[in-house]
Amino acid sequence: MVNQVNPAGAEIGVIGGSGFYSFLDDVTEVQVDTPYGSPSDSLFLGEVAGRRVAFLPRHGRGHHLPPHRINYRANLWALRSVGVRQVLAPCAVGGLRPEYGPGTLLVPDQLVDRTKSRVGTFFDGLPLPDGAVPNVVHVSLADPYCPVGREVALAAARGRDWEPVDGGTLTVIEGPRFSTRAESLWYRAQGWSVVGMTGHPEAALARELELCYTSLALVTDLDAGAETGEGVSHEEVLQVFAANVDRMRGVLFDAVAALPPGGTRDCLCTKALGGMDPGFELP
Ligand SMILES: [Zn+2]
Repeated sequence: MVNQVNPAGAEIGVIGGSGFYSFLDDVTEVQVDTPYGSPSDSLFLGEVAGRRVAFLPRHGRGHHLPPHRINYRANLWALRSVGVRQVLAPCAVGGLRPEYGPGTLLVPDQLVDRTKSRVGTFFDGLPLPDGAVPNVVHVSLADPYCPVGREVALAAARGRDWEPVDGGTLTVIEGPRFSTRAESLWYRAQGWSVVGMTGHPEAALARELELCYTSLALVTDLDAGAETGEGVSHEEVLQVFAANVDRMRGVLFDAVAALPPGGTRDCLCTKALGGMDPGFELP
């Protein structure tokens, strides 16, 4: 049930991560309910370069939701229900290699799911409140991120003199604790690049709704296996994110402006369901 929707809606969604709780100054706050419950917070609708944007703080204002308690399905559903088709998703991550120090921006092209307790699909066979029953649908996640969104994000970062790491694997752990040193060394030995706690199931759920999804991973610390000190602290993560949040906002502004206009998307994300009947109406 939608309590109140701005008729102008939005075409681009930004999901703000740790340390990133607001995006635009001039916003309309909209509360959206979904068949899966409430999203992390209100949606904040505004405009960047003539493009309608919906911002959603992933952990809620004030960061009250730990990664494993986030209602990822409600978040993606809510964004799509106001018209969003392309999502930019900044997140805080730990670097698995010494060269990926704090302040590194990595635009991953792969992810590994190491989470344990999250609902990762809309196609769970359980009826929705309106009685619709999702069909059994298996989408491809071989390439989990939007290729167009990735190029846009990379160009936006370069345009702000922030040379990004182009590609790499985002390892998503359950959290909320950080990795042990052995876990971190193992991730690194697999050739994975960074560690976060929210990239899954966010990317998979976006794909199931045929949304374009692009992750912008800001390294806030070196993960336990890549540093020699005491390990990561939450304060450290927030401090580094705060120091980089204006830079990240600038990159996102430019990326929003450069994303393909609504209706012109032609990437793999738009064909995720390949004509399969999901058994319910996409919002
Ligand atoms: Zn796409």
